[in-house]
Amino acid sequence: MPELSASRAEPLLVLDRVTRTFFVRTAHGELPLKAVHEVSFSVDKGECTGLVGESGCGKSTLGRMVCGLLAPTSGTISFAGAPLPQASPSSPVIGRLQMVFQDPFSSLNPRMSVGASVAEGLGSRGYQKRSPMGRGEIRERVRDIFARVGLAGMEGRYPHEFSGGQRQRVALARAFVTRPDIVVCDEPVSALDASVQAQVLNVMRDLQEEYGQAQLFISHNLAVVGFMCSRVLVMYLGEIVEELAADRLASAAHPYTQALHGAMPTRTVGRGKGLVVLKGELPSPLNPPSGCPFHPRCPRAMDICTRMAPDWTELAPGWRVRCHCLDD
Ligand code: SF4
Repeated sequence: MPELSASRAEPLLVLDRVTRTFFVRTAHGELPLKAVHEVSFSVDKGECTGLVGESGCGKSTLGRMVCGLLAPTSGTISFAGAPLPQASPSSPVIGRLQMVFQDPFSSLNPRMSVGASVAEGLGSRGYQKRSPMGRGEIRERVRDIFARVGLAGMEGRYPHEFSGGQRQRVALARAFVTRPDIVVCDEPVSALDASVQAQVLNVMRDLQEEYGQAQLFISHNLAVVGFMCSRVLVMYLGEIVEELAADRLASAAHPYTQALHGAMPTRTVGRGKGLVVLKGELPSPLNPPSGCPFHPRCPRAMDICTRMAPDWTELAPGWRVRCHCLDD
């Protein structure tokens, strides 16, 4: 199987044929559900990579594996040149790899001030081994990160005293306070109002520019991913179907990427083929279609698409796609 990513200098995170299968009890017995299937890509130091796809396509499962919260059934994940360990308070990668979730409230202790929650990461055993800090230094670092996320002087408050957008800023403070190498963000703004989304995304961009860390930004919203990321991975039914630079989205080659792009409010039509409108629902991963998994919804499906899964085609360095229909 060909590598998905074009070879680039110093990959920080490398996934090689990562698969995650769950077993689900049904009326017909226990059936395998391949949530993620043979996914390979890499993320370089300082690079912001987007992972986009519909709800249920496997992107959050992939995000949890990248954070060490879930083990792959097969395939490997390496971080900074070594196999990624499972997440634990004493993990050697603690502080270097952080995660921001959709719902920050569930990840904040309601009985702890938000400042204490943010300071917690700096005092964890794994982080202390790498970078021991005194109390005064921790306090100063926490004060500084609260100012950077627009919550200056609010360290002593409790989670219930904040709005949803402010709580997500606290979650960003907690993720960035350790100056991580990479932050995995799973739908970080999808629960927020549009105006608050823009504010939080701008804070994230400022933090990324300030600290230069890599991000894996997971979202169902291609407009958000295109705003935040330089490179985009498009996922459909557990597989990556296209990888391209964000500034090529208007010329996307895969009909699924074209459909996601066509649904954006400020879209332009890709590759001169006309607008692709996404119809129907994502099929169940318990009973995936034969051949190309997108064929039941694809307006360009040909006979071969129902029988044979397409292989990767490289259209340009860093631009790869899995589709039989690439003649123009
Ligand atoms: Fe559509 Fe066929 Fe391409 Fe799949 S391989 S996206 S069904 S044209």
